Amino acid sequence: MTMDQLRQTCLDCRQCNLSETRNHVVFGVGPEETPILFVGEGPGQQEDLQGEPFVGPAGKLLDDMLSIIDLSRHNCYITNIVKCRPPRNRDPLETEQQACICYLRKQTLLLKPRILVCLGRIAATRLIDEQLRITRDHGKWFQKGGIWMMALYHPSALLRDVTKRPDTFRDLKGLQAKIREVCPDFYDTMTP
Ligand code: SF4
Repeated sequence: MTMDQLRQTCLDCRQCNLSETRNHVVFGVGPEETPILFVGEGPGQQEDLQGEPFVGPAGKLLDDMLSIIDLSRHNCYITNIVKCRPPRNRDPLETEQQACICYLRKQTLLLKPRILVCLGRIAATRLIDEQLRITRDHGKWFQKGGIWMMALYHPSALLRDVTKRPDTFRDLKGLQAKIREVCPDFYDTMTP
């Protein structure tokens, strides 16, 4: 299956109740040849309206965060654990995550990322370790299935609590160092 075929299957999906309240399925954006994958928890209101991940205020902050280390949606891939918006921005239920995770697994198989960055607690506990605590473990590196993984605070958390931003700046610098270590050609071949 190609990424376009997977996208089309996902756009038609009605495997969980979130399909009943969504405006758009938010599949993901970015180049397929990138070695870097960012995963958030699920679309918010603006993402649901526009069909693209991280386009509201948190998305603007994510773009700013990425630009600090010469990343952008043009050189890395951005998606979520669930592809449809949970009502009132609640956390996605376990059943909804279970129903939707197949799309992320297939995206990961197609992208073959070297580095996966979880944005926030939900993605980090789902993908890295269910015991992970974002306040304790953000910025730490884990290796699973040949992929280097780390968690950042979710941009929404950084909007609510600016005191977390210095930690995130350090974590981004750690990410930049890991990119240089694991993907030494990245900054020469992928334009921001
Ligand atoms: S959240 Fe995922 S599993 Fe549920 S309807 Fe949307 S695409 Fe399908």
